[in-house]
Amino acid sequence: MNRPANSPLNPRICILGGGFAGLYSALALAKISLLQQWEIVLIDQRDRFEFSPLLYELISGELEAWEIAPPYLQLLRNWPITVYCDRIEAINLNARQVQLRDRGPLNYTYLIIALGVESRLPPHPDVLTFRSLADVEKLKAELERFKHQSSLDISIIGAGASGIELACKLCDRLGPRQQIHLIHRGSQLLPELSPPIRKAAERAINQRRIRLSLNTNVEKIQHQGDFQLQLTQHEQSFRETSHLVIWTAGTQANPLISSLPGGDRGQLRVTPELQLTRYPEVFVLGDVAATPFPNTAQVAYQQAPHVAQNLKGYIFQQPLKPFHYKHIGDMLTLGIHNGVVHSFGLTLTGRLAHLIRSLTYIQRLPTLKQSLRVFAHRLKRIFRPSSR
Ligand SMILES: Cc1cc2nc3c(=O)[nH]c(=O)nc-3n(C[C@H](O)[C@H](O)[C@H](O)COP(=O)(O)OP(=O)(O)OC[C@H]3O[C@@H](n4cnc5c(N)ncnc54)[C@H](O)[C@@H]3O)c2cc1C
Repeated sequence: MNRPANSPLNPRICILGGGFAGLYSALALAKISLLQQWEIVLIDQRDRFEFSPLLYELISGELEAWEIAPPYLQLLRNWPITVYCDRIEAINLNARQVQLRDRGPLNYTYLIIALGVESRLPPHPDVLTFRSLADVEKLKAELERFKHQSSLDISIIGAGASGIELACKLCDRLGPRQQIHLIHRGSQLLPELSPPIRKAAERAINQRRIRLSLNTNVEKIQHQGDFQLQLTQHEQSFRETSHLVIWTAGTQANPLISSLPGGDRGQLRVTPELQLTRYPEVFVLGDVAATPFPNTAQVAYQQAPHVAQNLKGYIFQQPLKPFHYKHIGDMLTLGIHNGVVHSFGLTLTGRLAHLIRSLTYIQRLPTLKQSLRVFAHRLKRIFRPSSR
């Protein structure tokens, strides 16, 4: 791999995106760079990190927003990381410069691209999505709007892990007045996950009497008072009415990525060391990197320290290591205080699985301080349930 003749030892490392891939890379770099003069700049359009696997718990009230979405400034206080809450508008790889909406141009020595992917735009603007804290707030506002209605019909499009977890949480939160319809284009639930997880998910859906339609396509959605959905199943067309529609199916490319070389499919081609092809000073990880691994937080979480070490190796002209992913297992939340965990051949379900999942995620919050704050708060809630 080509290296610059004189690798600058006081570089500015810009990290684009402060999600799992970007924030955890910044933290790993800050740990390595303690004795070095590296300027680490983390840029995200949001003012806070969002731990997306726990967003469902905000709908059920099992967790509070500050626990899983801490502001960067609070989280990174005392860390040698500069945070810019700004929108990245362009990346010029040849000039080694990014263009920020408010701050203007920013030069970098090394770049880490961790911009993730976006929710696929639903076919109607009033359809809700479920990917961010802002989406959770919108959904909660809608549920509040319908709170005095005696029955509530909700259609969830997409029965991937996200659709199933959301359906179970909503069902447990709303009780018997809800009717949830889970609509899925595929013929099978969760084919990418292990059979015990699949079985637990099917059981959770059946126990809650969630209506599941497989092999079903959404042709059209209209919104006049209620939503009217036009669906097809085995070439038969039918209509359906819903008070709320939530879209969890599919993702789309971040527009910034499509404009970069090799980004035509929404992901950037990378070397096994996670460097951008033809731009070795640029590292790419997380959902935006075209790798053989799934688009999950678990992958991004493992890639982050690897990228930090490889970037250090690149700066000091040492050999870089290819990234190898170790799949630790799968976990789903399946309703309030209920879940499934499958790891190393062992499957746990119910309350115990919920507890293990919660503890694992609390331990994986970005900083030890945040993990301890949340853990202490949870303990307090167990012993004094009314304390806030
Ligand atoms: C509801 C939900 C549940 C999930 N559950 C799980 C789970 O249980 N287990 C699991 O392993 N994975 C789960 N995932 C997937 C996981 O969240 C993603 O794989 C992970 O977030 C990818 O990390 P990332 O850093 O690549 O992207 P993201 O976390 O999406 O981070 C990208 C960041 O880039 C920022 N950004 C994008 N464009 C710009 C711009 N132009 N300017 C400035 N900032 C920008 C965004 O604001 C964002 O903060 C879930 C995802 C969702 C949505």
